[in-house]
Amino acid sequence: MLDIQKIRSDFPILSQKVNGKPLIYFDNGATSQKPQIVIDAEVKYYQEINANIHRGVHTLSQLATDAYEISRGKVQEHINAKFAHEVLFTSGTTHGINLVTNGFASILKTGDEVIVSSLEHHSNIVPWQMLCEKTGATLKVIPINENGELIIEAFDALLSERTKVVTVNHISNALGIINPIKYIIDKAHAVGAAVLIDGAQAVPHLKPDVQDLDCDFYAFSGHKMCGPTGTGILYGKEAWLNKLPPYQGGGEMIKEVTFEKTTYADLPHKFEAGTPNIAGGIVLGTAIDYLNNVGFDNIQQYENELLAHATKRLLEIEGLKIYGTGKNKASVISFNIDGIHPYDIGSIIDKLGIAVRTGHHCAQPIMNFFCIPGTIRASFSFYNTIEEIDQMVEAVKKAQTMLS
Ligand code: PMP
Repeated sequence: MLDIQKIRSDFPILSQKVNGKPLIYFDNGATSQKPQIVIDAEVKYYQEINANIHRGVHTLSQLATDAYEISRGKVQEHINAKFAHEVLFTSGTTHGINLVTNGFASILKTGDEVIVSSLEHHSNIVPWQMLCEKTGATLKVIPINENGELIIEAFDALLSERTKVVTVNHISNALGIINPIKYIIDKAHAVGAAVLIDGAQAVPHLKPDVQDLDCDFYAFSGHKMCGPTGTGILYGKEAWLNKLPPYQGGGEMIKEVTFEKTTYADLPHKFEAGTPNIAGGIVLGTAIDYLNNVGFDNIQQYENELLAHATKRLLEIEGLKIYGTGKNKASVISFNIDGIHPYDIGSIIDKLGIAVRTGHHCAQPIMNFFCIPGTIRASFSFYNTIEEIDQMVEAVKKAQTMLS
């Protein structure tokens, strides 16, 4: 059982007023709030050990390097990667995906196929499109059904010996649908394809086990899991990371540089050119510790209660339609009300201190599928409450009355 009031007191922003009302923050899918322990760790880094890493012999540089590498080890343990050097620090999911698509530019050829799904965030569509344009490979798309679930038989039918990469998100940001990634990974491997999982929306809710999943790449962002912005992780299997060329050239990623030839550093440094977000990388480890202390079993159980309550209460509203009605869902609800633009609802409830996301959620193909301009998305975290959901429902009803 979680002590929600105690948890809420860990997050200073939650006691703020917005537009004169107590903040109700339901935009966790966009970014999560940060506990004081994470904020303190960032300050402590700059106050006590700020130095560049991996290069200085001096004490501060070594302290900063140790803290950074300890954090890499925490991530390794958290996602159960076999080796610490399979864990690359990135600036976020987008960076991780682009690192992989850049690498595949030297592998794919005309006639090869890349499979993405209709449920993807633009971050996991556009880089693959750019890769296909560059290489002559073809992009294939797994369709969805009316419940917002992937049509698995259609995925099976798309697979062939031409399939070189399959990529799907673990959890959809726009609808909250949890995808059957284990099945997808196994099937893709059976035809020899590599698999990248976009875990951006999964890591706030669950602890991925990359060895059990057997995915080749797993990308996520730190800022959605109580960590700082500008942080992220790309997990890649050692064999793949050795095979892919570096993404960016620069300092830190080399063994030796001459004008005739440069040789690259070993993993993970080959993919970590330049000075990284050192403070952010270290503090991501603090955020992971915090979440593990709360406990992912507790988080899931509680968020499921929030999801069930919100679904039931929102459906009391006449003319309200929920998108993404599949069974397997994280605590995200996307909805619209008949005849009202989502933006208008979002703006009115913002005046009441309630933060939701409105729009296409960087997933325009999903909006096109449902023939809508966008939705209102309420995404819940373990620090939200049933009372907050009830207040949102009342606010949405009020907005509906004002706008009808
Ligand atoms: N994929 C998904 C499913 C997401 O929800 C997001 C963020 N909204 C991203 C990718 C991109 O993450 P970032 O902007 O942190 O790189």
